[in-house]
This record gives sequence, structure tokens and C-alpha cells, in this order.
Amino acid sequence: MKPTIVLVGRPNVGKSTLFNRLTKSRDAIVADVPGLTRDRHYGHGKVGKKPFLVVDTGGFEPLVKDGILHEMARQTEQAIAEADAVIFVVDARTGLTPHDKEIANKLRRLERPVYVAVNKAEGLVSGMVEADFHELGLGEPHAISAAHGEGVRGIVELALESFPDPEDDEWHSDATRVAIVGRPNVGKSTLINTLLGEERVIAFDAPGTTRDSIEIDFEREGRKYVLVDTAGMRKRGKVFEAIEKFSVVKTLQSIEDANVVILMVDARADISDQDAHIADFIVQSGRALVVAVNKWDGLDPYVREQTRQMLQRKLKFLDFAKFHFISALENVGLANLFRSVDSAYAAAMTKLSTPRLTRVLADAIARQAPPKHGLFRPKPRYAHQGGSNPPIIVIHGSAVDQIGDSYRRYLEHTFREAFRLQGTPLRIQFVAGK
Ligand code: GDP
Ligand code: GDP
Repeated sequence: MKPTIVLVGRPNVGKSTLFNRLTKSRDAIVADVPGLTRDRHYGHGKVGKKPFLVVDTGGFEPLVKDGILHEMARQTEQAIAEADAVIFVVDARTGLTPHDKEIANKLRRLERPVYVAVNKAEGLVSGMVEADFHELGLGEPHAISAAHGEGVRGIVELALESFPDPEDDEWHSDATRVAIVGRPNVGKSTLINTLLGEERVIAFDAPGTTRDSIEIDFEREGRKYVLVDTAGMRKRGKVFEAIEKFSVVKTLQSIEDANVVILMVDARADISDQDAHIADFIVQSGRALVVAVNKWDGLDPYVREQTRQMLQRKLKFLDFAKFHFISALENVGLANLFRSVDSAYAAAMTKLSTPRLTRVLADAIARQAPPKHGLFRPKPRYAHQGGSNPPIIVIHGSAVDQIGDSYRRYLEHTFREAFRLQGTPLRIQFVAGK
């Protein structure tokens, strides 16, 4: 499971700059999710072989007692409580402030491993910059420059030191790893109980770690699945039930840990920002996706039609995924739902040969050439596959890095059609050369 690093610190110390640096390589790839990237506080990063999740907590006002700032502080605390490591960002230019000390006190009480990053340290004398911040009592402070990338890798490596490198054979197990996610009350526990009620549960494993993650192995029509890290669930007697509190971090971890995500939404409620954020994160993560619109039982045809239209409008950016209208309670639609899970998994894991990719690319260009950029017209020459789950298609050629978003989308659409990649995000990367 990917470790989570949470960034805290008072406003203006450079948290978002650090966040952007840590998540940068991914940003370029996800930038074309319309309108959703702006207000983003969760991202993926990687140092060496180790992937991690990073959470930017925005403001942190430990003294505010109510209102929106209080709510933000509460969510920040929750994120910290669930973090594997906290990077506490302070500002070398302003020096230690009383506000920093308050945050430090709070962090000490929450008992997570904390690494102090003294930011904006570029051009300052090392040793001197950190001196001020020993007083925080949170161990050796580390000078960094988020803006220039200095010291950033070092502090992240430290924070992740106790986490092993991910296993290489993770993908080779023949079970499909499925995460069921959605906001509270959409029916996740009901779905799990219905699934497990009728099928053979092979194993149930709840290791007593701090994260109390759950994995459930089961078989369905001869296929093997692992329900991974069912966010916010606990087992009570024979059934699973949701823990009241919705956990963003747990949800993100289960998405990371899955091959296919079932995003559950409630047909009897409007799509909320929370639904949209979860959906956005699934797209960013690159996991295959099936949408389950639950509580479809007993709705009249007019309401069903309204709901369909509302979903189409609000979740338009999930058009690569299949939507299923189900009733977890009455066990309706689950067979088809799992058929889509299987096909989304197959699409996510497809092997695309270089000759076929290159042929589809050539046909696409013959139909419509990439627009000129300045004096040059980008000339894609060949394509190969750069990864699975999500499939990554790497396109080589001269000036291909100048290809714009709309042509990228055209290519994506063409590849999707040609290789029937329904149910999985698809990434296209351009490598300019001769
Ligand atoms: P946040 O409010 O903590 O998220 O802070 P921001 O990331 O928005 O940064 C606040 C200001 O500090 C911006 O003007 C940044 O350009 C600047 N800043 C961030 N990191 C550095 C750095 O490493 N060096 C310098 N000199 N400025 C920085
Ligand atoms: P969770 O918080 O996502 O795990 O949601 P629950 O599984 O606890 O379900 C929340 C409520 O929705 C419960 O009262 C369920 O009985 C109800 N519910 C779940 N699935 C369905 C369904 O398919 N149809 C209807 N009508 N109610 C459902």
C-alpha cells in the first residue's frame, strides 16, 4: 500500500509549491481533466522506486473554534492522524513564528512522524538556516527549496525510509483487485454484504495495523477477486458496516491499491463535490473504473430518466467508464456490474504491440495530420506501449512535444476505438526526437 505524506504549515510557507514539485511528473499527464485540477489537494509522487500519496492540507489554524476554518482544521487533523509521515513546512525567510510553535504543539500531540522542512533556503548558509527551528522540538530541521527543488528528494526519502520498495510481482497474481468507494450512505457495505452473502468467501484478513485495512478474497463465477482496503468498513458479527466518519485518505489508499475501482453513487441524491473529487482522483490514479449507480430499485421511470441525464452531465469526464444501475439491497444488476469489472480489468492490462500501435497511429495521421506549430508540423513516427493499468502509449517523432491538447484527445479517441479500451483511463506521452 502506498504511504501517505501530509504537508502542513501556516499559509505562504510554500506548501503548494512543494506539493506541485512532488506531484509534477503526473500533472502534465492529468492536465486535460477539464476544470478539476485547480482545487486539487491530493496527488501522487514517486522517489526512486517508491510511490507515495501526498496531501496538501491548505490552511491550518489550530486556534479557530468554529466556521469554515474550523472545519478545515478538523479535516487537517484527520489527515494528519492518518498520515504515515508529516512534512511540516516552515519559512527560512521569516524565521520561527508563534504560529509555527502552535502547529508544532498540535503535531506532537497527534504522534505521527514529523519532518521539519525549512523552505526558501536557496542561497542561505546551511547550518544557520535550520538553527532557529530546533526549538520546535521535532528533530533535526532540513533546509529545502521547494521552488528550486533543493533538498526535496532528501527529505522525502527520509520520510519514506521505513517503507519497503514495492514488490515487482504485484501485477502477476491472478486475482483482480477491486476497491469499492463512494461517500457515506451510498450503499458500499450493503454491496459488500450482498456480494459476500451469495459467494464463497475465501479469506478475510484484517491485520491489526494502525490503518486497520481490510482485504477480502472471494470467488464469483469462477473468477478470483480481492476487495481491497474497503475504506472505512469494519466487520461486525457476520456483516460489514460503514464507520460513520468518511476518510479521504483511506479512500485514496484503496484506489491506489486496486486494479479496478467501483465508484458508487446514490441514485436518490444529487452528485456532490465529494463524489466529483473522488471521481477526479480515480482518473488521476489511472485505475480502471466502473460506476455503480445504486438504489435504482423502486424509482419511477421519470425519476430514472432525470437521474440518467444528471449523471451524464455531472460525470461527463468519466465517459470512458461504464455506468451500471443497480440495487445492492435487492441484488439486482450485480452480475453485469462484475462483467464490466472484468472487461475494464482486461482493457487496463491489454498488451498493445508496437506494429499495431504504429499502424493505428499512421491511419490516424493520414485521416487528420497534427496542426502546425509555428513553422514546424509535428511528425509522429511510431508508438509503443509504456505501461499498463493504465495503458500508456508513448509516441515518438519530430516535434511531437508540440502537439496540443485537442490533437492529443483525437489520438486518444482513435486508440480507444481501435483497441476497445473501455473502462480504463489511457495516457499518451510524446517523446520528441528524430
Ligand atoms: P502555501 O500557502 O504554503 O501553499 O505557499 P505557496 O506555495 O503558495 O508559496 C508562497 C510563496 O512563497 C509564493 O510566492 C512562492 O513562490 C514562494 N516560495 C515557495 N517556495 C519557495 C522557495 O523555495 N524559495 C523562495 N524564495 N520562495 C518560495
Ligand atoms: P455505506 O455508508 O456506503 O456503506 O452505505 P450502507 O451500505 O450503510 O447503506 C446506507 C443506507 O442505504 C442503508 O440504509 C441501506 O439499507 C440503504 N441502501 C443500500 N443499498 C440500497 C439499495 O440498493 N436500495 C435502497 N433502496 N437502499 C439501499
